[in-house]
Amino acid sequence: MSLVTLTINNKQVEVEEGTTILEAAKLLNIKIPTLCHLNLHDLKMVNQTASCRVCVVEVEGRRNLAPACATPVFNGMVVKTNTIKAIKARRTVVELLLSDHPKDCLTCEKNTNCELQALAADLGVSNIRYEGKISTYPIDNSSKSIVRNLDKCILCRRCETVCNKVQTVNVLSGVDRGFETVVAPAFGLPMTETSCTFCGQCVAVCPTAALTEVNNVPEVWRALKNKDKYVVVQTAPAVRAALGEEFGYEPGTDVTGKMVSALRSLGFDKVFDTDFAADVTIMEEASEFVHRLQHGGKLPILTSCCPGWVKFFEHQFSDLLDVPSTCKSPQEMFGAITKSYYAEKMGIDPKNIMIVSVMPCLAKKYEAARPEFGKDGVQDVDVVISTRELAKMLKEAGIDFNSLEDENFDNPLGESTGASVIFGTTGGVLEAALRTAYEWLTNSTLENVDFEQVRGIEGIREATVKINDLDVKVAVAHGLGNARKLLEKIRSGEANYHAIEIMACPGGCIGGGGQPYLKGDIETLKARASAIYGEDKKKTIRKSHENPEVIKFYKEYMGEPYGEKAHELLHTHYVKRQKM
Ligand code: SF4
Ligand code: SF4
Ligand code: SF4
Repeated sequence: MSLVTLTINNKQVEVEEGTTILEAAKLLNIKIPTLCHLNLHDLKMVNQTASCRVCVVEVEGRRNLAPACATPVFNGMVVKTNTIKAIKARRTVVELLLSDHPKDCLTCEKNTNCELQALAADLGVSNIRYEGKISTYPIDNSSKSIVRNLDKCILCRRCETVCNKVQTVNVLSGVDRGFETVVAPAFGLPMTETSCTFCGQCVAVCPTAALTEVNNVPEVWRALKNKDKYVVVQTAPAVRAALGEEFGYEPGTDVTGKMVSALRSLGFDKVFDTDFAADVTIMEEASEFVHRLQHGGKLPILTSCCPGWVKFFEHQFSDLLDVPSTCKSPQEMFGAITKSYYAEKMGIDPKNIMIVSVMPCLAKKYEAARPEFGKDGVQDVDVVISTRELAKMLKEAGIDFNSLEDENFDNPLGESTGASVIFGTTGGVLEAALRTAYEWLTNSTLENVDFEQVRGIEGIREATVKINDLDVKVAVAHGLGNARKLLEKIRSGEANYHAIEIMACPGGCIGGGGQPYLKGDIETLKARASAIYGEDKKKTIRKSHENPEVIKFYKEYMGEPYGEKAHELLHTHYVKRQKM
């Protein structure tokens, strides 16, 4: 591809032909505002609808302003991004958007996190000169995960691009025309009547509060006030790698110790770690894998810890329901273990235990309510809040996060290994399972536990691991579009893998729909992944089957991994799904 040279704001830059003005400006660290453009984690899934017209710039020799996101550069091009004409045009666009917007910023879910609000402030919009009809729509709060409030939609179509091109779920698209246009499920159906996976990736990219998570914070406050309840909190591995961002820490700062201390200050009776259950997941999943391998069972085995991914295959690949592992997710295993093993140990009635999960994920809110995840009318998990919601709670409580001293999780369900920590990033579950399966199958010590081949950010990664005489073929996919590609290969019989890890969110849980807003930034995503691998390296025990508390749990209570009791408590089944 040939190179072209252009000038932006008097600075020269050389870029490949076909590059847009917006991309070229980025290389010069020149910020051009936009509300619709999105380059999600460099996935080349760019939302380039040029629908907001906020990124308009002046190009020498052209009468009309050009949208920087959709205008390719040419040799000798001269661009000015900050002329009065461009700024005025942007201000007009923002005023027009605000003229059909509720303007209830102070009480809005996205207050201080809204891109429209921030842009209006940057442009000094203090007066809206346009008046007209304001659109109003019923709020869709049918699901446990996501709220759609179209009154706040600015029709940027980022959600549509993410849902259709990245996730290939095709729930959201533009319907109707002109002033009536909305981005919605077909026939205006509520989310619960669609094949939405509740991955929350649309929420993660929505610039306004048109798409938000269901707010479960009030339920947690109520539980903490209730003296009759023994309130236990569990935190997923990806939370600690991103929570600090909400308090001004650099992306990739591991704030595990402060997070534990903050949760204790909130008043939880026990602060435990989902990582304990992730180690148990590996005991079960690796046993299931070894069992399938040795008894001619169905291969490849697919991981099943991601509820977004589970719902995806229940809708779209229901002919393959016997392929995924039957293991519950770590969040659900944790709930089941606490309300059985731990309750018995402590002499507490499971009905009086309340489990609060802090998750990077919106699909976990839906998962907690699935009827099969409970026993005798008691759900395994009671309330799920996201990383963002935890940050909100800590701010509400006036906790000075930055000055907290590091504290450790409570025992026994706070004990974990490096293998469980890496569940938080793409490739981590497979790597953790390989560490255990290798030792079980070879009866020897695995000296180097780092399976670098399955790490990274490529959408689909493949590797071969020699175990005894067998070349074990494994694959990793993150993002449901990539998952679809692998599943289609399995369906057609083309795939010859032994094990596959799938995570619904690009990057895995570190890029989950409940994490601090990433705005598609790949560098932040990579920094979160390195925080996860850093914590794994720091652990003295890095294989799940060596977790002393997990060993004790099986010895005292559970019996054999993948045994009868384990099936009852830690495994599940899948169903063909048409709606929620
Ligand atoms: S949650 Fe995921 S599947 Fe559902 S609409 Fe949003 S992007 Fe699509
Ligand atoms: S719901 Fe949000 S992301 Fe989707 S079009 Fe509206 S403003 Fe954009
Ligand atoms: S990848 Fe993680 S955050 Fe995303 S849906 Fe799955 S479990 Fe939730």
